[in-house]
Amino acid sequence: MHKLLAGIRDFHHRVRPAYLERFAHLALGQSPDCLFIACADSRVVPNLFASTDPGDLFVLRNVGNMVPPCGSNGAIDDSAGAAIEFATISLGVRDIVVCGHSECGAMRAVLDTARPAGAPSLDRWLEYTAPSLSRLEGEPRLGPSLPALDRLSLAHVLQQVDHLRSYPAVAQRLEEGRLRLHAWWFDLANAQVLVFDSASGDFVPLAEL
Ligand SMILES: [Zn+2]
Repeated sequence: MHKLLAGIRDFHHRVRPAYLERFAHLALGQSPDCLFIACADSRVVPNLFASTDPGDLFVLRNVGNMVPPCGSNGAIDDSAGAAIEFATISLGVRDIVVCGHSECGAMRAVLDTARPAGAPSLDRWLEYTAPSLSRLEGEPRLGPSLPALDRLSLAHVLQQVDHLRSYPAVAQRLEEGRLRLHAWWFDLANAQVLVFDSASGDFVPLAEL
């Protein structure tokens, strides 16, 4: 907490002057062109590795960068569903990125039988990963040199992108060519963003494309 408070003071005195004009403009409204869905993990910092500024990204973060599928009565989880509907219908984003990452604790909890005790909400939340486990079996080309934990994380990202298509607002805009979906994965140890390459069936470094 000490670092957090010191950071706010540092922002106020050193960084804020350069951003005053931008925030005054942003106070009038937001028009991000991308919905960025990432894990709540403290090591995943989209604004840093994507070099984005305030106002650029509409961000949905939760444990395991989860996109619960949408049924006939809306999303299974209203928090994620509300963010997806607001970003597509109200903000009109042109792109949605689902970004997983290496060493993901949520994926580890799925693979491990030992989970934190007294966490019923977490247990229920992680049930949304069941299709990702099945997906991994059908994606043999994903991260062949990576440990099982990271291979599951890659398959999980692809599965969440598929779940996005179950939202009527997303499906309609995809059909009209007004929206694109992207599967990204942040390799923590190398501080590198990978993107799914359908030609190879694997994730490749985005910066090299
Ligand atoms: Zn994670």
